[in-house]
Amino acid sequence: MRVIYLFKRDLRLEDNRALASAASQGEILPLFVFDTRIIEDLKAEGERLCYVVRAVEELSKKIKLYCLYGRTEEVLEEVFRLYRPTHLYTTLSHSWSGKERNERIRKVCRDYGVEYKEVFEHFLAPPEEIPLRKVYTPFYREWLKRLDLRRSWVDKLRVPNLPLPTLEQVKPLLKLRPFPYFDPQECKERLERFSFEDYEERRNFPGEGGSSKLSPCIRFGILSLRDIFLKAQGRSEQFIKELAWREFWYHIALHFPQVRDLEFQEKRRGISWENKEEHIKAFMEGATGYPIVDAGVRQLRREKWLHNRVRMILASFLTKVLLIDWRIGETFFKEHLIDYDEVVNIGNWQWSASVGADPKPFRLFNPILQAQRYDPECIYIKRYLPELSNLPCHMLHDPLSHRLPYHKPLVNYYERVPVAKKLYGITSRLEV
Ligand SMILES: Cc1cc2nc3c(=O)[nH]c(=O)nc-3n(C[C@H](O)[C@H](O)[C@H](O)COP(=O)(O)OP(=O)(O)OC[C@H]3O[C@@H](n4cnc5c(N)ncnc54)[C@H](O)[C@@H]3O)c2cc1C
Repeated sequence: MRVIYLFKRDLRLEDNRALASAASQGEILPLFVFDTRIIEDLKAEGERLCYVVRAVEELSKKIKLYCLYGRTEEVLEEVFRLYRPTHLYTTLSHSWSGKERNERIRKVCRDYGVEYKEVFEHFLAPPEEIPLRKVYTPFYREWLKRLDLRRSWVDKLRVPNLPLPTLEQVKPLLKLRPFPYFDPQECKERLERFSFEDYEERRNFPGEGGSSKLSPCIRFGILSLRDIFLKAQGRSEQFIKELAWREFWYHIALHFPQVRDLEFQEKRRGISWENKEEHIKAFMEGATGYPIVDAGVRQLRREKWLHNRVRMILASFLTKVLLIDWRIGETFFKEHLIDYDEVVNIGNWQWSASVGADPKPFRLFNPILQAQRYDPECIYIKRYLPELSNLPCHMLHDPLSHRLPYHKPLVNYYERVPVAKKLYGITSRLEV
């Protein structure tokens, strides 16, 4: 048999089920495609592409990996003509654009008489096997019962020599910018070093770095989810719950595919967002006058990553204080996050905007209280707004009570609360 193995978001050899299934068939041609459709859609030039290139580079040190640049289904035709494969193996996709891409690959395989195989890989429990649960906690209980932790290994890979490009030939086609903040090579060490025992206590404080920062490693499959789970097991149930949140959003997307564009909660569809241009611009430039929000935007733009607490503060501020459509915020994150995952990002944006799968009818994050509680010493704010680092922390927490030598607050949070409630149609006190 002549098998192509197409790597996607599973950039590793270890415990990779799809790769192991392909390799069990005999010789394989390992391939990675820098898909121009994905690059254009994500505007993924520069730093984020640099991360993927580094991951592919690490993989190329271990196997002869062929690399192509273009639309996957088009460049595959060239490989089909040259290699005449009998099979193409790849991972099963559950994201909307991943499924669309797999459909295009399936079609070109059909046209060339190549047998197409998708292998389940990206989750700890198969989303299809979990009975529908619209709320996270009951989902989590079902998820725990269906964990599939079997691991897979490839003994030896036999790869043919073909006149196809490798990463070095493709690199000049990519517009790369140096990216010092994350590197795939660190994933293993990060996992080894991470203090799971302290996670629950420290995870909410963005200045302290108490979260794992494993999200890019998970997003690109540089680490196996099973390995991460086994490291966390018995040390942090909270951490395992976070891994389950990722799978919960996929579970929701599977049963309610319309959430790609539409609010999960029908009663929250058609909100008349204010969408003021000057507010959108100020938010995206980190010039809202609320230091905790602006520090977050600076981190996102520079490091292409954000702490979960700050993601929630930003999303709540954009949607419920500035009254801007969550889709605009979702797109802003899409253009910046290194760990961008359309299903997880949309699920979380909808949750933060109180339009998603969340039993609580309306969550409102007060940016002043959030800063006081989660950045009590202003470590985070001062790190990203060094121009304000000489000011006392209590001033940085509360820009409404103190005049800062910096952007004037765009709006008064307390004045916006009743406006937000009205926009969301919240009339009774009980609903909040
Ligand atoms: C508005 C908003 C948008 C987000 N967009 C993304 C996104 O595009 N991609 C992404 O991977 N995460 C997203 N998240 C979830 C979460 O913020 C990140 O996964 C987390 O901050 C990554 O940091 P970490 O690896 O240190 O997380 P840790 O706290 O160490 O958690 C471990 C892992 O659990 C998973 N996880 C943690 N929290 C969540 C969550 N709320 N939802 C789903 N999975 C979670 C991640 O895979 C994470 O790496 C978003 C959250 C919000 C509020």
